[in-house]
Amino acid sequence: MTTIHWFRQDLRLSDNPALLHAAARGAVIPVFVLDETAAPNGRPPGAASRWWLHQSLERLSAALGGLAVMRGDPAEVLTDLVRKTKATAITWNRCYEPTAIARDRRLKAEFAALGLDVQSFNASLLHEPWEVETLGGGPFKVYSPFWKACLKRPVAPPQVQPRFKLAKLDGLGIPINAMALRPQNPNWAAGWEKLWAPGEMGAHARLAAFVADGLAGYGELRNRPDRRHVSRLSPHIHWGEISPRTIWRAVTHAADAGDVPRADSAKFLAEIGWREFAHHLLYHFPALPERNWKPAFDGYPWRENAADLRAWQRGMTGYPLVDAGMRELWATGYMHNRVRMVVASFLVKHLRIDWRRGEAWFWDTLLDADLANNAASWQWVAGSGADAAPYFRIFNPMEQSRRFDPDGAYIRRWCPELAQLAAPDIHAPFEAPEGVLRSAGVMLGKTYPHPIVEHQAARAAALAGYALVKAAAAP
Ligand code: FAD
Repeated sequence: MTTIHWFRQDLRLSDNPALLHAAARGAVIPVFVLDETAAPNGRPPGAASRWWLHQSLERLSAALGGLAVMRGDPAEVLTDLVRKTKATAITWNRCYEPTAIARDRRLKAEFAALGLDVQSFNASLLHEPWEVETLGGGPFKVYSPFWKACLKRPVAPPQVQPRFKLAKLDGLGIPINAMALRPQNPNWAAGWEKLWAPGEMGAHARLAAFVADGLAGYGELRNRPDRRHVSRLSPHIHWGEISPRTIWRAVTHAADAGDVPRADSAKFLAEIGWREFAHHLLYHFPALPERNWKPAFDGYPWRENAADLRAWQRGMTGYPLVDAGMRELWATGYMHNRVRMVVASFLVKHLRIDWRRGEAWFWDTLLDADLANNAASWQWVAGSGADAAPYFRIFNPMEQSRRFDPDGAYIRRWCPELAQLAAPDIHAPFEAPEGVLRSAGVMLGKTYPHPIVEHQAARAAALAGYALVKAAAAP
């Protein structure tokens, strides 16, 4: 009774229902298929994601004692594998990207027609997107009632790690190295091993460290990029190295035991709730990564400006918090959530560049790049999404910086050319007296850019654009 377990975004052994099911049947052939053309939504994984994937597959293979790694169209690769191994069943955990859903439906039918037992499971969400419904029976469009409905539902406990017999994998698959997932010439990810510990063990260690030191105070301090009060679990969660059910249990246990304030654990779980909501939206509105959720935004007069886009990507806009965030992203594959909101707002509102350009850049550079979370978040910032920030909320990057990085420590770390400036001047060097800049060694236009747009003028132009959207939305 040999079963193929097809690993996708569930790169772990614990709380892996499909793997558990496969293990209960007999010998298991664990497989990962890299499909660069079709998934998800026709986009190959971004460069940062590929780096993570390489490390994660290495850890998974070591933990399993072997993993058949293959590349190509999963339909062809897996059919060939069934033929070679005489497997009688195939299992996988569900993915929620529209193309993945369509592919899995097709494969389920094709494999069943070949006589295989095909089983799929939920391993990456607390609740299936179709299980949480409004009273009227439809999908939610607003986060708060969605999360309230989720909180009324029980969360299944995590499942045990299976003991399983590994089938013979001789001659199956290619070495992980052969997939060329890591950057070379130049290796821009050099040093990332010191910042991140991809893999299941790394994920559990990260969760434990956060629960012990970070979760208490999360409610208030999660907005401070200069403090360490966020979990940095997002890439682990995206690749399924740890399950939301496991996180749920650890966090509720910590609150039940009185180790962390209930308000902090609830706030943290509510953020996991935003992830659930993003997947709910993507499931019910599959065009989310490509189309405005609110069609009135189709008429927004976006600017095409390659120079401004590049200045934003490189962290050279002249607005320190924006630049610090974009440089943190480039250097580490991660950016703090508060800063993500500020840089995204700057691109969409100050520069009036289409949110899809920003979403694409994040897709390539974020270690946690995730179709549902990325698209839902960009549309939230742009105002075009479900339950989005109001279009007229235009983050003032200087005010955000004064509020959430009051001493300028975060800016100083990522914009070292401003390190000698004290707060408050560090938040807006272009407003600082000439003498202050001189004594801090800052020469605007030379050591650090002038602002590429003027805040008030940019704000007025963005609002004028949104007036067109408002007119289009009027009945
Ligand atoms: P924590 O604060 O510790 O949160 C714990 C977990 O909750 C996160 O790991 C994540 O899984 C989930 N979460 C938190 N906030 C959100 C949110 N707003 N939406 C959905 N899930 C959330 N998150 C991604 O995982 N992938 C993306 O591609 C992504 N793109 C984003 C783009 C923009 C423009 C913005 C504003 C946000 C984006 N986010 C994305 C959401 C959020 O910024 C990250 O999930 C969070 O910063 C990850 O850091 P953390 O694990 O330390 O977060």
